[in-house]
Amino acid sequence: MKILMVSAEAVPFAKTGGLADMVSALSIALEKAGNEVKIVMPRYYKINRDNLTKIDSPLGVPCGWREEWCGVYKAVLPGSTNVETYFLDHENAFGRDGIYGTKEESDFHDNPYRFSILCHGAFQLCRMLHWYPNVIHAHDWSSGLAPVLLKFHERWTSEFSRTISVFTIHNLGYQGNYDKGNWGALGLDWNLFHGAGFEDFDRINFLKAALESSDALTTVSPTYAREIQSPQGGFRMDGILRNRSNVLTGILNGVDMDYWNPSKDKKIPQNYNFKTLAKKAVNKKALQERMGLPVDEKIPVFGVVTRLADQKGIAELFAPTYGCCYSICRDMAVQMVVLGSGEKWCENELQALQDKCPNLKIYIGYDEGLSHLIEAGSDFFLMPSKYEPCGLNQMYSLLYGTLPIVRNTGGLSDTVEQYNQETGEGTGFRFDYLSPRSIYDTVGWAVYAWYNKKEHIKAMQKRAMQKNFSWDLSAEKYMEVYQKALDNL
Ligand code: ADP
Repeated sequence: MKILMVSAEAVPFAKTGGLADMVSALSIALEKAGNEVKIVMPRYYKINRDNLTKIDSPLGVPCGWREEWCGVYKAVLPGSTNVETYFLDHENAFGRDGIYGTKEESDFHDNPYRFSILCHGAFQLCRMLHWYPNVIHAHDWSSGLAPVLLKFHERWTSEFSRTISVFTIHNLGYQGNYDKGNWGALGLDWNLFHGAGFEDFDRINFLKAALESSDALTTVSPTYAREIQSPQGGFRMDGILRNRSNVLTGILNGVDMDYWNPSKDKKIPQNYNFKTLAKKAVNKKALQERMGLPVDEKIPVFGVVTRLADQKGIAELFAPTYGCCYSICRDMAVQMVVLGSGEKWCENELQALQDKCPNLKIYIGYDEGLSHLIEAGSDFFLMPSKYEPCGLNQMYSLLYGTLPIVRNTGGLSDTVEQYNQETGEGTGFRFDYLSPRSIYDTVGWAVYAWYNKKEHIKAMQKRAMQKNFSWDLSAEKYMEVYQKALDNL
C-alpha cells in the first residue's frame, strides 16, 4: 500500500507531544510491513535546511482562488529504510519559531492559513512526484483539512479517485477553533462551511470537519475510543463520534522499543533488564545526585515528566492550597522529581514547592536526557491525567521497571494493570476519581507496598519490564483499518 502521512510534526524534526513520536514510529513500522510510506510536514525555522535535500522546482499550491508557492525539501526519516519526509518551505507561513504558537502567542492567529497550505500542498506534492497514495493519513486538527479536500475536491480527480482518508484523533481537546473570518484562508467554497461540517456555533472547527469527512477514524487507545463517545469525554463531539462509531477504531500506540530500552539506552549511566533489575539502583543514585537529593536506595523516588497542562492533572498535584504534592512530600518518606514545562502558574508554584520541600526537586524545561534518567532512576512514576488518549510515559515507565501510578482513564487503563495486594499481581496503581485526595491515597498505597511488600514490588517491576509495546502490532491494526476503508470505497 502507498501511504501519505500529513502531519504538523514528526520526530526527530519537530515535536510538541506524542503525536510526533507516533507519526514517525508508525511510518517506520508500516514500511517494515511492506508498505511505501511518505510524510509531508512544514519546514519550520528550527529545521535546518542544510540537513535536507532541496528539490529543484518549487511547488505551486492552489488554495481556492489564490496560489501559494512553497520550496520543497526532503530527507529520509531516521530509523527507516526509505520513508521520504517532505518539508513545505513557506516563509510567510512557517518561517518563524513555534509549531502552533509561541509563549507570547500560544495559538498563532493565522493557523488556518498556515495549515491550509500544508493540506493543499500535500495533494500538490503527490502530483509533483507522480505518486498517488492509497491512503492519506491525517493527524489531529492541524491536518484535518486533508480529508475534507479529498472528499469534496480531490476524490473527483482521476489521480485521487482510489484514495481513502484516515484521521487519527491524538487529542480531542485540541480542535482548531477559529473565527469564521478566517474562512478565506481555507480555499473552500462557503457551502462547505456547513456541508463539510466545519460550522461550530458559527465558528470554524477543523477537527469537527475532519471527523465528519474522513473515511475512517482512529484514536490511540481502545478505552479512549469509548470515552470520546460519551458526553463526559467527547468535548462536544460525542454525538458525531457516536454517529460514526462504525468507522472509529481505538489502536494503542506502540513505543520505540529500541530507543526506550533500559538494556541499551545510551542516555542512562547503567543499562539493565528484568534479569539484572538490581542494577537499576545505579541510575537511582545518579538521579538523586543530579537533582541534589540525598543518595538513599531505601527511600522511594517518585518521578513526573509532563507537559504542565490542565489535562495532566497538574491542578490536583500542584495548585496552591489545593494540590496534594505538598502534603505527600510533607507526610511521606519519599523523594519526588518533576520535569516539565508549560503553564506559567504551575512553573512558579513548582518553584515555591521546591523551596518548601527538601525532598522535592524540579527541573523546568524540556530535557530528553533527563526524562530518560527519571524513567530509569525512579521507583514510581506519577501520571494522574484528567484524560489520556494513549500516554507514552506510563509505557516507558513499565519498560523501565518504574511502577506507574495513574488515573483509570484512556490509554492508562489499557496499559497499567491494577496492583492486587493479596496476590501481588499487577503492574501499577490505578485510581478512578481525579482529586488531590485520591492521588494522595494512591501514592500512600504505593509507599506502603514499597516499605512492606518488597517482594510484590520486585515481581511487578519484572512483569512490567517484559511488556511488549512494539509498533509492529499496532501497524498491523492500522493496515486492517486502511484495507477496510479501501474495500468500502
Ligand atoms: P502528550 O503527548 O499528551 O504530551 P504523551 O505521554 O503521549 O503526552 O507524550 C509526551 C512525550 O513528551 C513523552 O515522550 C515525554 O517523555 C515527552 N515529554 C513531555 N514533557 C517533557 C519534558 N519536559 N522533557 C522531556 N520530555 C518531555
